[in-house]
Amino acid sequence: MKILINNLSLFETLRPFNDLGFVPTMGAIHKGHLSLINKSNQLCKKTIVSIFVNPKQFNHKRDLESYPRNIKKDLKTLKKNKKVDFVYLPKFNDIYKDKNKSKVKLHKKDKILCAKFRKGHFEGVLDVMDKLTKIVKPKKIFMGEKDFQQLYLVKKVLERKYKSKVIACKTIRDKNNVALSSRNFLLNKNNLNVAANIYKKLIIIKKNINKKKNILDYLKSQKKELRNNYKIKIDYLELRNENNLKISSKKKNSRLFIAYYLNNVRLIDNL
Ligand code: AMP
Repeated sequence: MKILINNLSLFETLRPFNDLGFVPTMGAIHKGHLSLINKSNQLCKKTIVSIFVNPKQFNHKRDLESYPRNIKKDLKTLKKNKKVDFVYLPKFNDIYKDKNKSKVKLHKKDKILCAKFRKGHFEGVLDVMDKLTKIVKPKKIFMGEKDFQQLYLVKKVLERKYKSKVIACKTIRDKNNVALSSRNFLLNKNNLNVAANIYKKLIIIKKNINKKKNILDYLKSQKKELRNNYKIKIDYLELRNENNLKISSKKKNSRLFIAYYLNNVRLIDNL
């Protein structure tokens, strides 16, 4: 596993390889990230993982500051995994040195779900993914369905511009079905129990959807119930079509999307 600490060493090292699988991450590596690495190993000759906590995609300074970071542990985990050929650890200037102002603008129809509640977040994500793709030039990029809207937007924007293909990977969950996330490192045992109960409830809600005449009303009442039962703030609870993210009125080809806060940590999931 070779560690690339700047763009120069990256360009020199990667030149001979054209079948590269790329797993972009913000670190605090967990089994969700490792599943993306496994997939890349199956489909590509070489795998490169990047670790870069992109400040431009955080809409709150406090969130950026508290984001879990443990580069030593991450490198140990990745090395042990034995499936990573390169780790790219760019500095801010490796990514943003050309000082080009982000030109990414979201369409009005895309200002839904997290885009509605985290102003500028996806503009930051799309900008960094554009820059990383230009630098790494991967054949395939592996991204998790856990961040479904991110996957949807990055795929739409990048595949139009670059030859790289974006490959969707299933959400990995813990033994209680809580979706793994770096942010889970900020939760205590009690929070994780609540998250597990919320997951159970979401399964029931989704199961009942086809029996309901007015899905919007049903989800509104379920959102209220979740809020009151668990004393949580919920940004959204919505059923959307997984191909175009439009509000949906049937279970087929749809996912139930949620974003909520536990211990001031914002969690998202979809099922
Ligand atoms: P992050 O480090 O949180 O920016 O995530 C890096 C990549 O890992 C993104 O493509 C995420 O969607 C993916 N990812 C994060 N958590 C999971 C999970 N539980 N299952 C599958 N993929 C995940």
